[in-house]
Amino acid sequence: MSYISKEEKEYLIRELESELHAKLDGPRKNLIVPICPYCGKSGGKFGIYVGKEVGNKKLFVSHCFSCGHTTKDINQLLDDIGRPDLKIIEKASFDPVQIPEFFGLEEDEIDDELSIIDMPESWKRCYHNRYLQSRGFVYDDYEYFPVGTTRGLNWKFDDYVIFPIIDNGDTVGYVARHTWSKEAIDQYNQTAKRNGKYQIRRYNNSTDNDFVKLLYNYDAVIEDETDTVIIVEGVFDVIALTRKLELYDNTRVAVVATFGKKISDTQIYKLQSKGVKNIIVGYDSDATDAINKTAAQLNEYFDVTIAKIISDGKDWDEMDFWDIYDTFAYNLTTPVEFKLNTLDEKIKCN
Ligand SMILES: [Zn+2]
Repeated sequence: MSYISKEEKEYLIRELESELHAKLDGPRKNLIVPICPYCGKSGGKFGIYVGKEVGNKKLFVSHCFSCGHTTKDINQLLDDIGRPDLKIIEKASFDPVQIPEFFGLEEDEIDDELSIIDMPESWKRCYHNRYLQSRGFVYDDYEYFPVGTTRGLNWKFDDYVIFPIIDNGDTVGYVARHTWSKEAIDQYNQTAKRNGKYQIRRYNNSTDNDFVKLLYNYDAVIEDETDTVIIVEGVFDVIALTRKLELYDNTRVAVVATFGKKISDTQIYKLQSKGVKNIIVGYDSDATDAINKTAAQLNEYFDVTIAKIISDGKDWDEMDFWDIYDTFAYNLTTPVEFKLNTLDEKIKCN
């Protein structure tokens, strides 16, 4: 790459962004192009490196992880996309060129295709429910987080509250939570087992979908507007945190659930493709190994911090406003700090 001023570089990035509908990734090192100009494949498999030139990572090298096309010369790319007017004067370089890691996902296909599913028969939204009331639900929760029951008309879902998982307005899955306590369910199941009767499951979720491709509350992440996302484990954590931090109408910060203490490449891609920059990991603090792993995974694409829950043994659902306030005010750590702390604690314990 020849000499190009900062202004020229930024101008070219802006032009490529609008010409190719490209977007900078979280660390602003790559332009992710939704449709490959060479093979026409969609899904953001074509990337243009715009980070610092390090070693043989050259500015404006582009590569498609679908068709494998690499273009080392920006002027060639500009010709190929029909924008020769943007060409820059370049000195020939014979340095070997390294293909940058765009997603760190390389050839793996990112499969983010979802199927639309039906809610259980007789499911109907509700705006008052005794069980949810006992878990602190307020009017806004029912309004922002659709939930319903089958009203005694579908025995498979008797005593369940059922939350649709919505993605771009479509229902792509559901989470059904039994309203009895764990103890009550266990007790019932012991008797049921002896009598050869049907066992109650605490969760009775949809099965025609792959939860690793879903995020609960994903539509609250608004493209190019939401820059910070707090990831938590489950539906109730999302709702509790949204309520306690009053995030209902906050378009810059959203809470989403990954359905457990881990995140998949598809889920990362879903957040990245909406232009999210900062991720706060809000998993249960005792899951230190899972947190370290997830944080390291996310750290390649986002600025990551970890919310170390202050009141031990509680999850978001059970914490009061001040516990949560303290967590966000005083207990956000970087992945490295968190890892060091957990090592410290392990040493102390042993
Ligand atoms: Zn391609």
